[in-house]
Amino acid sequence: MTLNREQMLIEMGIRPLWALRDALPVPGEEASATAPAAEVSAVVADCPPAMVAPEKSAPLPAELAWDELGPAMQACRACVLGQRRRQAVPGVGDVRAEWLFIGEGPGSEEDAQGEPFVGAAGQLLDAMLAALDLTRQKAVYIANAVKCRPPDNRTPEPAEIDACRPWLQRQVALLQPKVIVLLGKTAAQSLLGKQDKLAAMRGQVFEYSGIPVVVTYHPAYLLRNLPDKAKAWEDLLRARRAWRAKTG
Ligand code: URA
Repeated sequence: MTLNREQMLIEMGIRPLWALRDALPVPGEEASATAPAAEVSAVVADCPPAMVAPEKSAPLPAELAWDELGPAMQACRACVLGQRRRQAVPGVGDVRAEWLFIGEGPGSEEDAQGEPFVGAAGQLLDAMLAALDLTRQKAVYIANAVKCRPPDNRTPEPAEIDACRPWLQRQVALLQPKVIVLLGKTAAQSLLGKQDKLAAMRGQVFEYSGIPVVVTYHPAYLLRNLPDKAKAWEDLLRARRAWRAKTG
């Protein structure tokens, strides 16, 4: 069988390259001088991926320094939550904190103010911190499993938790806290990959990257279930014992 020139170039996998040589402008000349822009992009679209210069991609969370994380989260569109939020809510507190508290995700007030736990649940969290002689400015960092507000304050979907996990993991890696308190199931699902009922996760000390991790109720749950505050206090005391064991 005899191949014509075009078929032969296709067989050899170099036809787009030849087309590019004809169509692309020589350095220093405008694209329109050699080929209309639409024609150029049609040719480029025809290229195998290896022949097209890759777009400059965003750096991975794992490569970022602490002060680069916030701006990079604001630019993140890794899941649908990034499209409807007012702003990403990276976290608040002391960047040398020994205690890290992780909630679920921003609500409407957090979305407006850019700070986690500023609503009613936040007031209860502040009271829980005060009971441990901590404040959100001193020795504590507060973050969420997802950084963008889920619409109508729904629970984040597993895919959204997965998409946001690299940000949380980077925060933990940079912070290197002595103890982590997970506030509710979503935080436990994100950091520990656990789907168990909260009651089954309480009462234990888990480990993440060598850091002790305690799971307790989310403050919003406690606002609706006041008797469980006593159990949350037991969890905080467990966390304090783990922190003491780490800090000596
Ligand atoms: N609930 C959370 O889990 N996080 C917040 O920031 C606010 C409410």
